[in-house]
Amino acid sequence: MNKNDDMKVLIVDDDLFSLKLLAHMVGQHGDYRVDICKSAIGVLEKIGSGVQCPDLIFMDLNMPEMDGLELIRRLAGCGYTGALVLVSGQSKRILKASEELSRSYGINVLGHLEKPVCSTQLSLMLGRLEICEQAPLKKEQQFSIEEILCAIENREFINYYQPKVSLSGAEVKGVEALVRWRHPEHGIIFPDQFIHLVEHHGYINELTRLVLANAIDDAQRWRTRGDTFPVAINISMLSLSSFDFMDSLCQLIDGKGMSSGDFLFEVTESRALDDRRQPLEIMTRLKLKGFELAIDDFGTAYSNLSKLSDYPFGELKIDRSFINGIANSSSKANFYHACLALAGEYGMTVVAEGVETHEDWAFLKSTGCDMAQGYFISRPMPADAMPVWLSGWKIEFLA
Ligand code: C2E
Ligand code: CA
Ligand code: CA
Repeated sequence: MNKNDDMKVLIVDDDLFSLKLLAHMVGQHGDYRVDICKSAIGVLEKIGSGVQCPDLIFMDLNMPEMDGLELIRRLAGCGYTGALVLVSGQSKRILKASEELSRSYGINVLGHLEKPVCSTQLSLMLGRLEICEQAPLKKEQQFSIEEILCAIENREFINYYQPKVSLSGAEVKGVEALVRWRHPEHGIIFPDQFIHLVEHHGYINELTRLVLANAIDDAQRWRTRGDTFPVAINISMLSLSSFDFMDSLCQLIDGKGMSSGDFLFEVTESRALDDRRQPLEIMTRLKLKGFELAIDDFGTAYSNLSKLSDYPFGELKIDRSFINGIANSSSKANFYHACLALAGEYGMTVVAEGVETHEDWAFLKSTGCDMAQGYFISRPMPADAMPVWLSGWKIEFLA
């Protein structure tokens, strides 16, 4: 969604002055369809009527009758899929805790605003609304391989990017390119609806080439603004059985004046390999050329502890199923500590995937994990949104 004139914004606050002031400020930021409500019950009535489901709700936390926290729970209960910004005169800690509570209910929280609301912070939130990734379509779409090939030909695939940040200093260390199909009729389609099909029919190399070409263009545009960091590209294990293909990727990078340090390849071993010699040779050669290699989704399927020593991986990405909720799960924590120890032994950098809460972030930070990636930091976003996100991250997190 890029045009804000289609976006419905609902503001709820029992204080009429704050309500009108914020409505006025939002109106000044663009052609949003702004609606106001003086109580939490009013919000539920509007949403329950089904006519006016907002794309974004600005919610005051302190309201008589039903407060913001209860409203959050009720919104989750009625399957609200829009975004949320919390507004309050309360301390930052309360706002942060409420944000986290909302996330634990699966609500897409863009952040919080302290009262009195300042215009810069408001534009940051509205900017996030424009860029944030919508929840994937639950409805299964069935596409044929012919449709997908046509879409590759028409370059309908684009990359979204998700930042990877250091836990010690919250610095952005890189981004991961995640492919999306910008379908002319169905909108943004997620990889779970086409990657397997593309792999099954033997066209994953064509798609990967497009992903890399897009990543090069995007990285060069960021570079002109002074933002430089490595871009991680997902490589199917199937691609690692073709010498020519991986050579062609290196040539693409070279030909565009980029270098091996500007990219990183993430490999998931999603199935057992009959012959491991070819992937091993290709990975070793990539490493010699200066590319970093990451083992992806570590802990799942075939990527198990014993394989680590065989391949020249420099980065270990622990699958999100072990990270999400780690602060409260001894089994997840045990697995994670084993990964840390192993990575230490092989001199690898550890990335925790799927960090969704501050609690998990704090746990990882206190235990010496190198990097984190996940919704707590940012959802994947289109390339053009990166500069806005970067400046917001610097203001908010590094402040
Ligand atoms: P992946 O490489 O493990 O990518 C991370 C996935 O986790 C992404 O889903 C991302 O949106 C999601 N994610 C990130 N942070 C969080 C979080 O905090 N919580 C939760 N619940 N999820 C989080 P996405 O983009 O749908 O990609 C799914 C998978 O599709 C990827 O998993 C990767 O295996 C594959 N994929 C994506 N792009 C490409 C590509 O260009 N080539 C290939 N071969 N595979 C790709
Ligand atoms: Ca990946
Ligand atoms: Ca992964």
